[in-house]
Amino acid sequence: MNVATRVGAPESEDDAIARTPYQLPQSADLVGDIVIPGAIGDLDGDDRTWIPQSEHVSFRPLVLSVSQGYYVNLLRVRKAGVLSRHRHTGPVHAVVLRGRWRYLEHDWVAETNTFAFEAPGEVHTLVVPDDVDEMITLFHVSGGLVYVDPFGRPTGYEDAHTKLAAARAHYEAIGLGASFADQFVR
Ligand code: FE
Repeated sequence: MNVATRVGAPESEDDAIARTPYQLPQSADLVGDIVIPGAIGDLDGDDRTWIPQSEHVSFRPLVLSVSQGYYVNLLRVRKAGVLSRHRHTGPVHAVVLRGRWRYLEHDWVAETNTFAFEAPGEVHTLVVPDDVDEMITLFHVSGGLVYVDPFGRPTGYEDAHTKLAAARAHYEAIGLGASFADQFVR
């Protein structure tokens, strides 16, 4: 039997079955779950898990998947302006948690509570409008992104590996130790 045999009092036979946890052993090859309390709710805290990317931009890693080639992170920008122009090698799924931003290449605006899918191969330039003090967005980035100039010439790149390297360097520098980043790696 698993830890929690049942939740609540069943109202019928079917209900009793519905409330019964999976009874067989899990695969021995599963990687561990990642559970981060306060990941979204504790946005105001000056949490040291936020990693500075530049003076007004930081990110908080949630999953750094070096085995599958993607990363999930919260991106926080505390200054209006142009953030970056980049080309995606894979799809991106985003949910805006706070503030507002848009791409110079699109008419639509990503406001709080907006979901956005970004197509692999797309090139866009992220800007935060002048009247926004702070934006926080959850980005699930498959593959990586290549920073480019206005004519598509590469100037840099980002992927789960660069995110992990930045996380390790930051956590080491602030005394948490580089291995603090390991909890996000899968
Ligand atoms: Fe993008």
